[in-house]
Amino acid sequence: MAAPGENLRINPDRLWDTLMDMAKVGPGVAGGNNRQTLTDEDSEGRHLFAGWCAKAGCKMGVDSMGNMFARREGTDPDALPVYVGSHLDTQPTGGKYDGILGVLGGLEVIRSLNDLGIKTKHPIVVTNWTNEEGTRFAPAMLASGVFAGMHTEDWAKDRVDADGKRFGDELRRIGWEGDEKVGERKMHAFFELHIEQGPILEAENKQIGVVTHGQGLWWLEVTLTGKDAHTGSTPMNMRVNAGLGMARITEAVHRIAMDHQPAAVGAVGQANVYPNSRNVIPGKAVFTIDFRSPDLAKLTSMREKLEAEAAQIAADLGLGITIEPVGHFDPVTFDEGCVTAIRDAAERLGYSHMDIVSGAGHDACWINRMYPTAMVMCPCVDGLSHNEAEEISKEWAAAGADVLLHAVVETAGVAE
Ligand SMILES: [Zn+2]
Repeated sequence: MAAPGENLRINPDRLWDTLMDMAKVGPGVAGGNNRQTLTDEDSEGRHLFAGWCAKAGCKMGVDSMGNMFARREGTDPDALPVYVGSHLDTQPTGGKYDGILGVLGGLEVIRSLNDLGIKTKHPIVVTNWTNEEGTRFAPAMLASGVFAGMHTEDWAKDRVDADGKRFGDELRRIGWEGDEKVGERKMHAFFELHIEQGPILEAENKQIGVVTHGQGLWWLEVTLTGKDAHTGSTPMNMRVNAGLGMARITEAVHRIAMDHQPAAVGAVGQANVYPNSRNVIPGKAVFTIDFRSPDLAKLTSMREKLEAEAAQIAADLGLGITIEPVGHFDPVTFDEGCVTAIRDAAERLGYSHMDIVSGAGHDACWINRMYPTAMVMCPCVDGLSHNEAEEISKEWAAAGADVLLHAVVETAGVAE
């Protein structure tokens, strides 16, 4: 379809003001937000968003997982909609932009098209996915996961928070359980604008990240068993030190990730030794390994190499070892056509850009399993996110939303 002209832009001040207005709902304690999913604050944010969508002439649909879909009609009644969006929920100490930029950037796309009287062939739908963050109800990306068939709705609704409250009950309590069946909507394409949540774009001085892949992940939990013993009176050659085994495996995780560059990462994030006493050689160590890569072969190879090395380390030290997989998803390759639309948009608009891999999970990773999908990223200061101090500039937000606008208009087609 014909590409839009380079002077087609969103309204940066309006986008920024809208972001700041949403940030007033569920303020945090340090300048950010606490608008966790299915709280009263979440409901208030949804009402605010729904009001803006109605004013922009959109028709709102809500499914039974609380996912919100604001639709701007197209001129072709048979054309499937182009979807945009992200999430309005935040971490308990979250920022003002993680997720929110993608939803309100989508709204700004519609407002800008309204301003200019541009009609598209395909309808455009702005989405707010329920419970992307997964803090209150694990796992993350819960409702887009149900939409994409990763989880059943019953299972999702039975998730409980730390107080034992059910997801399904809380969704009903805040009044956002819709009547639409989850996953029934068909998409022509899906675009998600999101802050990077990492330091690469800022360090490389690029305005736009063209997200080509999402990292796949393996989470492994390792348990080493040795023998608790006195640190002073046990000779070195008679120790069975689970802490030492953990240290060697931690070192191996780092080296294995380094051996699988580019773009592979690995770390031991959670580590516990027992009995965790100053003068006791640890008789047990339990720790988690997080390996990620956008390349499935590398991801698999990292896990296999680690399992072999860890077994050898344990054998050398006389330790018992078990390695249990506790989390996994395959790498995501975003749709070539959608990725190209984003790269072309950045180019046409004169924004500096680079291809990047998303290090975090996003709703787009699930939707990509069903429909052509891609993501646009904009930088965030110091790569900081999931933190109340999360910050972006008005210019970065505008550049990201401009690229979103162009990619959407090109994909939805301007009506003749
Ligand atoms: Zn997010």
